[in-house]
Formats: sequence, C-alpha cells, structure tokens
Amino acid sequence: MPVPLSPPRSGRIVILGAGPCGLACADELDRLGHNDWILIEAARTVGGLASSVVDNAGFTWDLGGHVVFSHFGEFDRLLTELFSEKELLHHDRSSFVRYGKGWVPYPFQQHLHHLPRAEAQECLDDLVTACLQRQALPPGSNFANWLRAQYGSALVERFFTPYNTKVWATPPERMSVSWVTERVAPVNLDETLRAFLGAAEPPMRRWGPNSTFTFPAHGGTGEIWRRLSARLSNDVRTGTRAVSINTDERTVGIEDGPALPYENLVATLPLDQLAAMTATAPRNVRRAGRRLRHNTVVMVGLGYRAPTTDERSWLYFPQPDVPFYRATNFGKYAPANVPHGDTSTFSAWMTETSMSPGTRADLPALADACDAALRRHGLVPERAPLAGTHVEVVPYAYPVPTLDRDQLLATVVPWLEARRIHPRGRFGTWRYEIGNMDHAVKMGIDIARRLVRGGAEELVHPGRKPAGVGGGRS
Ligand SMILES: Cc1cc2nc3c(=O)[nH]c(=O)nc-3n(C[C@H](O)[C@H](O)[C@H](O)COP(=O)(O)OP(=O)(O)OC[C@H]3O[C@@H](n4cnc5c(N)ncnc54)[C@H](O)[C@@H]3O)c2cc1C
Repeated sequence: MPVPLSPPRSGRIVILGAGPCGLACADELDRLGHNDWILIEAARTVGGLASSVVDNAGFTWDLGGHVVFSHFGEFDRLLTELFSEKELLHHDRSSFVRYGKGWVPYPFQQHLHHLPRAEAQECLDDLVTACLQRQALPPGSNFANWLRAQYGSALVERFFTPYNTKVWATPPERMSVSWVTERVAPVNLDETLRAFLGAAEPPMRRWGPNSTFTFPAHGGTGEIWRRLSARLSNDVRTGTRAVSINTDERTVGIEDGPALPYENLVATLPLDQLAAMTATAPRNVRRAGRRLRHNTVVMVGLGYRAPTTDERSWLYFPQPDVPFYRATNFGKYAPANVPHGDTSTFSAWMTETSMSPGTRADLPALADACDAALRRHGLVPERAPLAGTHVEVVPYAYPVPTLDRDQLLATVVPWLEARRIHPRGRFGTWRYEIGNMDHAVKMGIDIARRLVRGGAEELVHPGRKPAGVGGGRS
C-alpha cells in the first residue's frame, strides 16, 4: 500500500550516522534554517564508509578504493564549496583486468582482442550467439541468467562468474538483476568485432560515470566529510551509538545518556540493525530485516619504500589464487597518500578482499598473501621493502541485491516510514544501485528538504517500487 509523503514538519530531527548521507542531511537542514537537529555517530570520527585513516608509517588509506564522481548538481556544488580548484586532483580512469599473464582493459567484454586468439574467438562466438538470440528474460530471473543472456557462456565462465562471486561473496544465481543498469557495462558488438579484426581500439574504455574522477589532494576521501562536518551549525555527537528506538514514544535510546526524542528520524545505519533495534516493530518486519544480505570487505593497505612507475588507477583480479578482487594504486590518486608526499621514495597499494559476514579471517596471513600477490603479478618489485601495513575490516561493505531483496524492503521500509523513521543512504536503503557517495548525499539533501518544505525525493519514493537509478562502481 503506498505510504503518503509526510507533510512538512519543523520539529526535532534526529539523524543517525555521520557518513555522507547523514552529514549532507544536517548541512541541508542548516541551509534551510532548520537548526533543530541532532546528529549522532557511533564511531569516533565522521565519514562512515567513505572515511580515511593515516597509519603509523604516514600512509593515508580509504576503507577500500573510493573515487569521486557525480550524477547530481548538489554533489558538485558541495565539492566546490568545500574545496578550492587546486585542492582537488582530476584523473582519467586507467583500469585493467588481470587475465592469465596479461592485462585486459576495462570493460573486459569490450576488449576481447586482448585475450589469446583462441579464447577470444570462443568468447566472441558465444557473444554473437547471445546477441542474436537475446530475448527479454522472464521476471525474477537471476543475475547468472542475465549474464549468460547478455554475454554468452564463455565470457561468463572466464570472467563474470569468478569476478562477481569474488566481489559479492555470493553466487550470481542468488542475485537479482534489478541493480545492473549502470553497474555492468553493456557490450557494443560492432565495436568488439572491429577491434577483434584489428580495425580499431574501441572507445568503450571511457564507459561509465567514473571514466574521469576527482580525488582530494590531501586527507583521502574522508577529507570531504571532515570539511562538511566542520561547517555544520551543531556539533556531531561522535562516539554515541543508537541502541534502541521506541516508535510509540518517538525516542532513540543511546548507549550513554538519556533517550533522545524526535519528531522525525533519519537513519543511515544498516537497515537490518535499524529493524532489530526498533522494539515496537512487528515480527515480520524484524524477520525481513534479518534476511537482508551483505558482504564484508577487508582493506589491506600496503605501503612500500619504493616508487612505482605504474600509471594505472586500479586493477581487477578475478582469479581465485589472489585474495583481493581489486588493487588500487593509491599514491597515484594523490601524492599526499604516501609519507611526506614523496612518491619518488614511496608507493601505496590498497587491496580489497571480500568475504561472508562473520568469517574469522587470519588478518596477518591475509596481509602477507596480499603482499605476495602484488609482487607475483608484477605490481610491486620483488625486493621492494614494505614500509607499512594497515588493515581495516569493513563489516558492512556491499548490500547484496539478493532475489528477495525488493520484497524484503517492501516489508520493512513502509512500516518505518509510516512512523516517521526514514532509512536513507547506502545501507539504509540497501540498494547498491544508489549506493555511491553522490547518491548518499543526494538522499540526505532530499529527505531534509522533504521534512522541512514537503515534496518528493528524487531517488527514494516511500511506498513506491525502487526507481532504476544506477551509477558507477562499488
Ligand atoms: C569498498 C568500498 C568502495 C567504495 N567505493 C566508492 C567509490 O569509488 N565511489 C563512491 O562514490 N562510493 C564508493 N563507495 C560507497 C560509499 O562508501 C558510500 O556511498 C557512502 O559511504 C555511503 O554513505 P552513507 O552515509 O549512506 O553510509 P555510511 O558511510 O555507511 O555511514 C553510516 C554511518 O552510520 C554510523 N552508524 C552505524 N550504526 C550506528 C548507530 N547504531 N548509531 C549511530 N551511528 C551509527 C556508522 O558508523 C557510519 O558512520 C564504496 C564503498 C565501499 C565499501
């Protein structure tokens, strides 16, 4: 049943979580002159998944490879308000997939001519057949079926299945296709064939919204959120965890201190946790929350006392003998990511390894395996001394679009919305297709506007089926 958009209200707004979404919401409330808000954040620092840390050796790391790109004027405006032009670095994406002993430019499916001839031929045959036979998939089809229908079996077996199983820590058969819009590159058969026949390198290297990207000159991605937090009219209450919600009394219980009354609650913490801590939620809502799936990512940052001549941005690794699915050349994003900004002495590789939540990983062994794989695949010289290792476990990294995700969301979200609890952001909406920083900011701004002025939100329509908005990577 559609839930009506709430009329504008001007009472106390409590925001849970000072990641990009929560901070953007508070900032927009300030802009609208509505200062009656409280932002509480469980961690000691702001930025959430998009924060950055400096390790003991002086390397700056993100919690996994972040790049800044935008679909929204509001996000662009925020960046220009927070940074001068010289405080942002601009890059052209240079991204490759490791395949055997070679490197295939991203998107893989568009560059089959970089594969050994016989394998390229096999992939191309299947791709042509798939394109000729393509029919609309029946509703409820899974991601594995979709991949085969789009790209043919050979490409799926050689690249898509191993890579996606690795990133998501979930077999594609258990995933839906409602999220793929801008997230998985389409194939231009004409260009692929022309490249295979030696006519031209396809222009698809520029595919997608992050073919160019921006990065802060200092402080990593987290610098954006530190600056945004610093300009807010109220302090962010960091180190304050929300532990319970009472929808009858409209209060949020926090770990240390009296409960906080709210008129409206904007919740950017993971939706499964939100449902679990709402004691007044009926059993079906809490059960649906528990069935949402996510993965965990371990970021192992490896700093070397050796420069790199590698000009590429990031590299994908579908092979099972490499722990990580992606390695990012982080010193290239900004020299300040290495100690003293000295890229003639240091280099920095940021690796991301995904796993099922609750996996008991041997982190020192994982760090050693990541270091060994970087050397084995020629990204780091064999004798380069390690200057620092930094490990960050990100328990909630990717919200997995499982087959039943939209049904589960349809049980949880309208119930919360009807009680003035507005789940927003990457894990608040649990929708990977709107899970980037620009989406999170847009959602934060839009909910602030709706609560103060009324009106609709662009990415989220409570009670309506999720819109098919896509965008970028990770
Ligand atoms: C590996 C990886 C790579 C990524 N790469 C990119 C990229 O290249 N480009 C891009 O645009 N985006 C990228 N993203 C996505 C980006 O990190 C998110 O879009 C963004 O951080 C979402 O912001 P958010 O505010 O919705 O949520 P979050 O950043 O998750 O913030 C939620 C906040 O809520 C807090 N919280 C949780 N529980 C409680 C509680 N009980 N009480 C109070 N506070 C609580 C958390 O501590 C956190 O600070 C990536 C994400 C990952 C994991």
